[in-house]
Formats: sequence, structure tokens, C-alpha cells
Amino acid sequence: MTSPNTSTTSLCLDCGLCCDGTMHSTVALEHGDDREVLLRTGFHLLLFEAEARFEQPCHAFHEKCTIYEDRPTLCRSYRCALLRQVDSGEVSDADARALVATAIGLRDRVRPAIEALVGSTKTHSLAVLKCRMDDALDAMDAPERASTHAQLELDAAELLTLLAARFEPRTALTS
Ligand code: SF4
Ligand code: SF4
Repeated sequence: MTSPNTSTTSLCLDCGLCCDGTMHSTVALEHGDDREVLLRTGFHLLLFEAEARFEQPCHAFHEKCTIYEDRPTLCRSYRCALLRQVDSGEVSDADARALVATAIGLRDRVRPAIEALVGSTKTHSLAVLKCRMDDALDAMDAPERASTHAQLELDAAELLTLLAARFEPRTALTS
């Protein structure tokens, strides 16, 4: 969701975890954001008394942001913890890319497995899917759960731990 004015932009182009529902469930709009543009491009906005949000996975994310010039304010300013560490020199570009690749690999195992378990839910964020997964697993007896879904539980836990530790999914803009 970041601006293209740094050397870290290409990291984001190969990532997208803050757009595809892996890190965030919703994105809040700010006053200056052009809601008409978003509505025209097919966004479904969640309207609350004081704010509007859109859900992730983002409607405009198709391997990259397809409304880049018109993306909302928070998308322009957002920088995850990993990106900030690359910017400051704390983390090398190579190490950051390795972490992104690990997270994407886990995502690509976890999402389809949860979707298969709870039914097709491609429009939901990972957080929502994880809640549904937990409900489904809680409804199973222990031997069934252990024999058929132990790897999924391990992968999901590893992904969430990695995101929390290195990508900081719940910075101010989204939930
Ligand atoms: S509008 Fe673009 S930058 Fe913002 S969440 Fe969607 S795909 Fe990402
Ligand atoms: S999660 Fe971080 S590295 Fe990945 S696209 Fe978002 S800001 Fe860039």
C-alpha cells in the first residue's frame, strides 16, 4: 500500500500482504478520499457514523494495486514494520524479501486449506478465515482434529506469529 518514492517499492510489488487480506480485515477512509472513485471501481464501502471502510482482500488488488493513482490516503502512507526496517537499514533487502517469501508461502498453504475446511470464502480476510477455522476445529473430536488438521494449525500459527513479529499487521490504519 505504499508510495513509489523509495527503493523499497519493489519489495511491496512482490508482496501485497497488506492488500490481500493477510494482514488486515478493513481499511479506513479519510475525509479527503474520493469515495465516488472507489464506488465507481466496484468497492463496497462499510459506512459507520463517523467513518467509512472497505474490506480486504481489497477489490482493487490483482497482484498489484489497480487503482494506484487513486488509492486512499492510508494506502499511500502505510508502511509495515518490515518496510520501515528496510528503510532505516536495520534489515537488508535480501532478508526482507526472504521474510516476504516465507509469509507468502505460508499464506498460500493456509488460505486454501482453511477455505477447503470451512467452504469457499475467498472474499474474507485471513482473520475472519481463522475465526471460522477455529470454530470448525472446535466442533471436531480431538482424534479427527489431530489426524487431519494438525499441519494446518501449525502453519496458521506460524503465519500469524510471523506477521505479528515482523510485519506489524495492526498498526493504526486497519483492523
Ligand atoms: S486500494 Fe490499492 S493500495 Fe489500497 S488496499 Fe487496495 S490494492 Fe492495496
Ligand atoms: S506488507 Fe509491508 S512490504 Fe508488504 S506490501 Fe505491505 S508495506 Fe510493502
